[in-house]
Amino acid sequence: MAEHPVEHETQAPAGSLSGTADSILLDARGVTKRFAGLTALSSVSISVDRGEVVALIGPNGAGKSTLFNCLSGVTRPDEGTVTFDGTDLLGMPAHRRSRLGLARTFQQIELFPGLTVLDHLLVAHRAQRRNGGWWRDLAGRSRPTAAELAECNEILELVGLADDAHRPIEALSLGRARVVELARALVCTPKLLFLDEPSSGLDADETEAMGDVLEHVRESREVAVLLCEHDVSFVRRLASRTVVLDCGARLAEGPTAKVLEQPDVQLAYLGAVA
Ligand code: ADP
Ligand code: MG
Repeated sequence: MAEHPVEHETQAPAGSLSGTADSILLDARGVTKRFAGLTALSSVSISVDRGEVVALIGPNGAGKSTLFNCLSGVTRPDEGTVTFDGTDLLGMPAHRRSRLGLARTFQQIELFPGLTVLDHLLVAHRAQRRNGGWWRDLAGRSRPTAAELAECNEILELVGLADDAHRPIEALSLGRARVVELARALVCTPKLLFLDEPSSGLDADETEAMGDVLEHVRESREVAVLLCEHDVSFVRRLASRTVVLDCGARLAEGPTAKVLEQPDVQLAYLGAVA
């Protein structure tokens, strides 16, 4: 992998295109991550404004998942800072991040066979709002309150899953199961959603349906999104701004249409496809 000097990424703070101190929700600067001598991320900066949809794209091995993991707290970076709504995120446990307004979905969906669609949301709702004890709910030892049911049903309605509420999760197609993952993240009333390849494994129709749901959610709720995605048409449709990673460094950043036109971005992408 090519070495990228630190200056390459520290020329301007992330978000300088659109962000002001008040509008920036997520602000990561100089994030570096090494794995046993391999520099997976080299001083990468990225920001997301309140209510903004930003895409993170790049060829395989570019460092997208590593950056996503550093931002969402799965991995601790070796260098750099990550703040969310002005609060330092590094070292903060997952349940505190969730209460601050951060939620994520995973590329490999993690759902529980045997539980209904509604159960998935109820468990997430309790897990976020209570300190522990959600295992009791899994074991069926307490009933959901009317308020919990109302909030979860409202989200199922929002994402178009109301008719599936009482179906077991395994009865759903992968496309619908991915929408359940999204709904579960929305139960936590996030200010920022990390979406890890929401179109992964979906066919063209399912991908379009997922795009429709995300657009509808964005029209109804003020939630910012950081979208890690390989499907360029999906990115073009949803993200106003795009950050391109290549070999662990930021190759480009700017309005999505403009960035996707850049010859070096196309080369990085076409090179990966070839
Ligand atoms: P992307 O998501 O863009 O495909 P990744 O972030 O998965 O890229 O990987 C970036 C680089 O870091 C790759 O060279 C990958 O092999 C390496 N890498 C990622 N995770 C680990 C890990 N846990 N241990 C060692 N190397 C890793
Ligand atoms: Mg990846």
